[in-house]
Amino acid sequence: MTLPLQHPALSATDPELAALIGAEEQLQADTLRLIPSENYVSRAVLEASGTVLQNKYSEGYAGRRYYEGQQNIDQVERLAIARAKALFGVEHANVQPYSGSPANLAVYLAFAEPGDTVMGMALPMGGHLTHGWGVSATGKWFRGVQYGVRQDTGLIDFDEVRELAIKERPKIIFCGGTALPRTIDFAAFAEIARESGAVLVADVAHIAGLIAGGAHPSPVPHADVISTTTHKTLRGPRGAMLMSREEHAKAIDKAVFPGLQGGPHNQTTAAIAVALHEASQPSFRTYAQSVVANAKALADELLARGFDLVSGGTDNHLILMDLTPKDVPGKVAAKALDRAGIVVNYNTVPYDPRKPFDPSGVRIGTPSLTSRGLGTEHMAAVADWIDRGVRAAGAGDEDALATIRAEVAALMAEYPAPGLTA
Ligand SMILES: *Cc1c(COP(=O)(O)O)cnc(C)c1O
Repeated sequence: MTLPLQHPALSATDPELAALIGAEEQLQADTLRLIPSENYVSRAVLEASGTVLQNKYSEGYAGRRYYEGQQNIDQVERLAIARAKALFGVEHANVQPYSGSPANLAVYLAFAEPGDTVMGMALPMGGHLTHGWGVSATGKWFRGVQYGVRQDTGLIDFDEVRELAIKERPKIIFCGGTALPRTIDFAAFAEIARESGAVLVADVAHIAGLIAGGAHPSPVPHADVISTTTHKTLRGPRGAMLMSREEHAKAIDKAVFPGLQGGPHNQTTAAIAVALHEASQPSFRTYAQSVVANAKALADELLARGFDLVSGGTDNHLILMDLTPKDVPGKVAAKALDRAGIVVNYNTVPYDPRKPFDPSGVRIGTPSLTSRGLGTEHMAAVADWIDRGVRAAGAGDEDALATIRAEVAALMAEYPAPGLTA
C-alpha cells in the first residue's frame, strides 16, 4: 500500500474531508518533518485507533466500571497497563489521560490544593505551559515559581533550583520540558525534592521513547510520578500516561477519574497498547539510539555551518538553534523552511530579547526522519538544506526555496513513511 491511501467509506460520504486527509498524507510523505514533538505512527497504531472501540463508554477502571459490556474493553486497558509497567519498569500505570496537559492537571489534583506553590521550568526557558506558567490554568490556580537555565551554559543550574525550592517549599516540582536538548538529571531533581518536601514529577513527554529504548536515563528510581504523552518519541497515538510507585496509585487514579475526566478514549487505549508492544521490540531500541545519533550528527553539521545551538549541541532528539548570528528571525526562517518542504517550529531561546510570537530561535528534532529510516549519513544534506533555506529566507530567494523543496521530496521518496505505507 502506498499513496494515495484508500478511505473508501470516507471518500463516498464526505469527499471534501477525504480530500483534505489525502492532501495531509501527501504533505507528510513529501516533506522533511523536523518538529521534535511529532512522529509517524505505524499502520498498526493507526488501525487500532480507528476502530469500534470508540463506540463505548467505560467510566471507571477495569473490573470497576460504571457501564456494562466491558468484557473486551477491560482486557484492552489491562493489556495497555501491563505493557506500560513492563516497558518502563513501574509499579503503576494509568493509561486514561486524554493528553499530556490533562495528565499534568491530574497530578495537581492528586497532590496539591488550589493556591499551593508549585515549581517548574519557565516556558521561555524550555518548560511546558502546564508546569505553572502564568497563562495556563496551572499558573492561575496555583502559585507557580519557575527556574531556568544559565545564560552562559544553557544548562540547568541545580544550585539555583535548590535555593528556590528550599525558599518556596513547593508541593510539586516538575522536571522535563519541551525545548531541552540535554539529558535530564533526575537524581539531582529527586534530591532537591526530598530536601524541600516536594513531590517530584518527571514530565518525559518528549523523551519517553528514548527512555523506553535505553537512549536516555530513566526517571523510575527517582521520580514520584512520571507523566508522559504517548505520541512523541514513543510513537503512539495522541494520548498520555501517568506512572508511579504503588503508594501513589490510588491518588493518581482518583484524580484522572472521577477527578478530572469522564469516559476514557478506548480506541486510544488500544493504540497505546500497540505502540507499547512496538516499543518493547529490539528494533525500537535501535530506533531510539538512531534518533540520538542522528541528532548529534545533525548538531555537528549545523555547528560546522556556523549555527549557534543552545547549550552547544544535544544529548537527545532535539536541537534548539538561536538564529541571531544569522540575522534571520526564527519565524521568518521557519516559514521559509516550510516553503522549502522542511517543517520546523519557531521557538524562544533562553533569555530571548524578542517576543514569544516572533522569537529568535527554531526548534528541530530527529524522531520523524529516523522513523523513515534516514541515518547519520544523511545529516550533512539535512544541515545543508537548513543552511541554504535560512540564507534564502534572509535574501527572500523563493527560487532557492523551491529548489530545496524538490531535493527534499526526492530524498523523501526513497524513504517511505511508516503509516503511509503497508
Ligand atoms: C507535549 C508536552 C505536554 C503536553 O502534551 P499535550 O498532549 O500537547 O497536551 C506536556 N509536557 C511536556 C513536557 C510536553 O512536551
